[in-house]
Order: sequence, then structure tokens, then C-alpha cells
Amino acid sequence: MKTNYDIAVFQGDGIGPEIMGPTTALLSELAQAGGYDLRFTDAPAGAAHYRDTGESLPQASMDAARAADAILLSAMGLPDVRYADGTEISPQIDLRKALTLFAGVRPVTIRPGQPTPLATDKPVDFVLIRESTEGLFYTQGRGEVEADEARETLRITRAISEPLFKFAFDLAKARKASGRGPGKVTCVDKANVFRAFAFFREMFDAEAAKHPEISADHAYVDATALWMVERPWSFDVMVTENMFGDILSDLGAGLMGGLGLAPSADIGVDHAVFQPCHGSAPDIAGQGVANPMAMILSGAMMLDWLGGRHDVPAMQADAARLRDAVDQVIAEARVLTRDLGGTATTAEVITAVKEALK
Ligand code: NAD
Repeated sequence: MKTNYDIAVFQGDGIGPEIMGPTTALLSELAQAGGYDLRFTDAPAGAAHYRDTGESLPQASMDAARAADAILLSAMGLPDVRYADGTEISPQIDLRKALTLFAGVRPVTIRPGQPTPLATDKPVDFVLIRESTEGLFYTQGRGEVEADEARETLRITRAISEPLFKFAFDLAKARKASGRGPGKVTCVDKANVFRAFAFFREMFDAEAAKHPEISADHAYVDATALWMVERPWSFDVMVTENMFGDILSDLGAGLMGGLGLAPSADIGVDHAVFQPCHGSAPDIAGQGVANPMAMILSGAMMLDWLGGRHDVPAMQADAARLRDAVDQVIAEARVLTRDLGGTATTAEVITAVKEALK
């Protein structure tokens, strides 16, 4: 059994290093006690790196990402550092494309005590999978604009959709096995209007037929937006196209009371990046007040993925312990950062999570 894992670490910009340092320290402590070894390698990249060196994602960092067992990323980009064409530096998107990370995994979890705009105390725990390499982002940066007309292309391929749906059903199976979900996958599309989505749905149904123990259904994206607000507890795993997923994942973050508690993963066949949903928060960088919880929960997703992939139950157990520790700190509501209505510093939250892990 493999027990040594190389993790490429993108510290990123703004609050990135402030939340990454304590998270890797926490993960190292868990690894030591759990009998597996995480070796973290720094991979310089991002907006500040571009400003200082003229390179946003150096080849050596790309190579480290490609060679690693997993990639941990905080957040990259600074609004005032841009390429000559005016766009921002975003190596996280370059990584997604270069490593074909088609499954954007966005868990939506509302824990007891967590601030949410929903008037419910029913637990919410579902996972939105956003296809992340094609769909309506296919012509990103290449759209055609004429004097009186503009065009972008929606692309759905078998090569991406089939592994995407397999991933969704495998995830539902794993959630069912661990007691986190009932075993259900919902295909979110617009198959009533667009032929491309009828094709998407056809491939979904073919994958569903291979998993009789998992229930499968369909929902139109507009109705899904409504149901995510009206009855979010009815979802388990949902899978959708890139642009639909882009929009619905922010709705999911809104249900969770903001970005400070929203982790994510971008997963392909051979590689995976784990990162919080939020950005580099330059407005609070350097103050020591960033909420590290989304970063810690992204670390937990990494342990879960590595443990499942390499059959190391200790890693998956540590992922659950980390999630439980964060849940406990939120439920106690004593040590919370400003974004969650508290006054705690990043360091105080880390200490509280460590205490909860004991
Ligand atoms: P942002 O997520 O960085 O910040 C939005 C608001 O949320 C800010 O008020 C910020 O202080 C707050 N916030 C975010 N994370 C927080 C945390 N962990 N704790 C406490 N408060 C937090 O979004 P933005 O301001 O639109 O973007 C800032 C920069 O980040 C931009 O350069 C943008 O391109 C980049 N960005 C990067 C990623 C990524 O790396 N995946 C994602 C989004 C934005």
C-alpha cells in the first residue's frame, strides 16, 4: 500500500499563504498520527509572482503539479495585477485546462449553527458537480463579435461527459456507503430546449443504467435554482454543464452563508486540485483575520479523495474528523472570524479546530 504522497502546494495571493500555512501544518499533524506521509512541495505561481518575475505559472510549478499525487491551492489573482489584454492572472483556470479537470466538485453543507438565509433547521448536505472544461465555456476568449451580432458555442462531448457521469455515480455510491447520502444523482440540464442537452441526458441515462442501486433523475436548470432554495435537502449529487454549474455553485455558496465555508475540488482522471471557492480577499490580506475553514475543508476533501483512490481508510477517517472538528467550532459559535459574525483571528480559529480534533 502506498503511504507517501507528494502534494504540490500553490500558496497563492492575498490571504492565500495565511490560510495555507496552518492548513498544511494541520494536515501534517494528522498524517503523522495516522501512519501516512504527506510531502508538501511549494509551487510558486499567481499574480504577485507574475508582477515580480513576469511569469504567472512557471513550467517548474506546472511540472510539480503534474507529478504530484494531489494539488492544494489557496487562491490566486489580484485585481490590480493584469496581463496586457486587461484580463487577470488566474493560473487556477490554466491548471484546470492543462490537467483536464472536468469534474468541479462543490459540496453544499449547512451545519448546525451555520448562518444561512434559509429559514430551516433541516440539515442540508449535497454535492454539485460542475463540468469544468467545455459547455458554454468552450469558446471562452474566442467568441465572435461583429458589429451587430456576437456568438459563443456550447460544446458537449462524449469524451468528457461519460467520465463525468461515471464520477457522479461513483460519488453517490461512496456517499451512500458512508451514510452521507441516500444514493441519488440528478442530471441538471435544459433538454427541453437544446439538442446538446438531450445528448447530455442520453449519456447520463446510459451511465445510470449501470448503477441500479443508485436512483437517477433529471431536473431543468431553472427549476433546480428554485428547488435549491425551497427544498435543498432533497438533493444528494447533482451533475451539470459548466455555465449552469458556475451559476448554481454560487447559489449553493449563498445558501451556506457565504464563501468562507465553501470548499471545492477540480478532479480529472489522473489529477485533482483542492481549493476553497473564495478568492484571494485582498481587502483583508495581511491582517490575520481570514477564515481558514474553507481551506481546511478543502484539505479534508483531498484526504478523502487520496484515501479512496489509494485505499487508505486512515486518510478518509481523518477527512471525517477534520469536517467534524470544523462543524463543532461552528456549532459552538465562540471562535468565528468576522465573515461569520465573530471577532476571532485566523490563528484562533486554527487553535479551536485543533482543540476540537482532540
Ligand atoms: P474574494 O472571494 O476574494 O472576496 C470576496 C469577499 O469575501 C471579500 O470581502 C473578502 O474579504 C471576503 N472573503 C473571501 N474569502 C474570505 C475568507 N477566507 N475569510 C474571510 N473573508 C473572505 O473575491 P473577489 O474580491 O471578487 O476577488 C479577489 C481576487 O481573487 C481577484 O483577483 C479574483 O480574480 C481572485 N479570485 C480567485 C479565485 C481562485 O483562486 N479560485 C476565485 C475567485 C476570485
